[in-house]
Amino acid sequence: MDELALLSDLHRDGPRQGPGSDEETRLAITLSGLRGSSDLRIADIGCGSGASTRVLARELDATITAVDFLPEFLQRLDADAQQEGLDGCIETLAASMDSLPFDARSLDAIWSEGAIYNIGFEAGIRAWRRFLKPGGIIAVSELTWLTHARPEALERHWVREYPEVDTVSAKMAVLERHGFSPVGYFALPERCWLENYYHPLQSRFETFLSRHGHSAAALAVVESEEEEIALYEGHSTHFGYGFYIARKTGD
Ligand code: SAH
Repeated sequence: MDELALLSDLHRDGPRQGPGSDEETRLAITLSGLRGSSDLRIADIGCGSGASTRVLARELDATITAVDFLPEFLQRLDADAQQEGLDGCIETLAASMDSLPFDARSLDAIWSEGAIYNIGFEAGIRAWRRFLKPGGIIAVSELTWLTHARPEALERHWVREYPEVDTVSAKMAVLERHGFSPVGYFALPERCWLENYYHPLQSRFETFLSRHGHSAAALAVVESEEEEIALYEGHSTHFGYGFYIARKTGD
């Protein structure tokens, strides 16, 4: 099994595949001003098994296209949506976020929690803008420095892993540079990382390793997740996910 298949196997059964919470998704919805509108068209990009998709479907009068390149996540989303009676307003689409099939100016909102980093914040903002109607909303969570200065080793780590890591004001400037006006921002609280993401993930390590006969590749996946968790636990005051909500300006 290659690394992507192992990662998919480890993450598929989790409540979510990245930091977040239903409550924070609802806060972002409130800040977006989308409540009260009817017949919205929304894309949830890099939706994973759909933690945020299902909140959007419950909270808004919308048809949501949930996009991910891993069909096994989408299968779980389809099954959960059906069980909750949300399948009428959620459609799943297996596609890559760098070649999305939406028509220009067809969406009221683009949602993406913990996923835009896969093509990079700036590239994603630029590429996805054209799919939004004038005045449309983009809502994304993104790795962000929460302090002006931080330990050198931490900075080196993230600059190597994700060179676009930056401060809130720098991310806002990227949005403004590419035709968006920020309407809201907040940082995800620690529980979104620890209780909702890392702790459930850690509780699956043992069964994951057994399933894969403690292979070297499976052990390497767990080791790398443990390193990431230790880094967060040691430095959560310095970095986290910022949730950015912005409105498209112009057409
Ligand atoms: N939004 C979900 C998942 C976040 S994890 C949540 O918050 O729980 C990031 C997701 O992006 C994963 O589901 C992964 O399969 C997906 N992904 C990574 N690269 C992608 C790409 N190029 N195109 C589409 N989806 C991608």
